[in-house]
Amino acid sequence: MSHLFIDLELRHGARNYLPLPMVLERGAGVYLWDTAGRRYLDMMSAYSAASFGHSNPELVGALCEQAGQLAVTSRAFYTDQLGPLLETLCAMTGMARALPMNTGAEAVETAIKAARKWGHRVRGIPDGRARIIVAAGNFAGRTTTIISFSSEPQNRDGFGPLTPGFDIIPYGDAAALEAAITPETAAFLVEPIQGEAGIIVPPDGYLRAVREICSRHDILLIVDEVQTGLGRTGRLLACDHEGIRPDALVLGKALGGGLLPISMFLARADVMDVFRPGDHGSTFGGNPLACAVALTALRILERDRLAERAAELGAYLIEGLRAIRHPAIRAVRGRGLLVALDLRPEWASARTFCEALMHRGVLSKETHRSVVRLAPPLVITRAQIDSALSAITAVLAELARPVTARAGELVA
Ligand SMILES: *Cc1c(COP(=O)(O)O)cnc(C)c1O
Repeated sequence: MSHLFIDLELRHGARNYLPLPMVLERGAGVYLWDTAGRRYLDMMSAYSAASFGHSNPELVGALCEQAGQLAVTSRAFYTDQLGPLLETLCAMTGMARALPMNTGAEAVETAIKAARKWGHRVRGIPDGRARIIVAAGNFAGRTTTIISFSSEPQNRDGFGPLTPGFDIIPYGDAAALEAAITPETAAFLVEPIQGEAGIIVPPDGYLRAVREICSRHDILLIVDEVQTGLGRTGRLLACDHEGIRPDALVLGKALGGGLLPISMFLARADVMDVFRPGDHGSTFGGNPLACAVALTALRILERDRLAERAAELGAYLIEGLRAIRHPAIRAVRGRGLLVALDLRPEWASARTFCEALMHRGVLSKETHRSVVRLAPPLVITRAQIDSALSAITAVLAELARPVTARAGELVA
């Protein structure tokens, strides 16, 4: 049965992903079920998009109610859903204005356009000259402009010509930012924790330092919280850990409540006000259906104190992983429920590890060769974390010795 669906994707789809070999057909809360009826604990939650759990009944209720009322109108008209969402998001994040898009990449593109135009109009950088500084290891999506500033060769190779105007500096190094700023620099675009790079947490004080540098040089600090935002790291925003407020902010993923795509670019008024009617837009951006779901998601986030929950359960997960003390573990790191289990490659690749976890009923995804991402829905319980920890312990126990030693024995 599952082979049929896998075959269909392989025969008719682009092969731009390499999914784990099982076919999902249902989800509820932290669990997913495959076509064979096997249940899995989701320790990956669609890269944070499913933070509220799968098919969260309250969110499904909001979705159905709004779908039967009014779903898509385009921004050619006002609706009774967009304004309340923008107001709520601005109040929660301390930003003045918000512009809705659909995917994270589109919201990052919006940030890039705003920064460039702000650089020209407000800062007086000649048109077409504004530059944006980014950090090595960044991930901000897959559009042609966004891959242009990726430091990962696979993201770029063969897709040129690329978009100019970006400068890449090392991540976590505030002095490198200061050194890279020129009179043509309009903004620094950065993730407060780099998710796709392997859940890289910068040194303490990094965000405070870059905040100060950006203010002193009058360049925009744009924080990409598409993955880290909305409670994932134990605070509403990951930059709240250092008590800083960026000049602009990008949200996505969890904002859609695990049901549909909606993203947001938020900014200071003087930044957002560079956009005039006709400058920018999106057919589906800010549609009432997505707005109703997002507003409900934000209410659940606050009411159920999911950020606090992520802080508490994330600490519990990290503590549990550190207590395992297996030589295959190179490092355990993260913040809140965004956690990396970094493996020594001579023991197991992260991909092999994820396949073994799958056979034990736990789903995760590798990032790069060595990192197993552990980022469950924020509604996970302590007991469910315990069962993930037992599965991880069991998989580690099967890795009796390093792979190279075993391969050597075979050769001998
Ligand atoms: C996933 C991600 C994006 C892109 O979001 P899409 O919805 O996949 O376009 C941008 N920034 C960060 C930090 C992300 O993790």
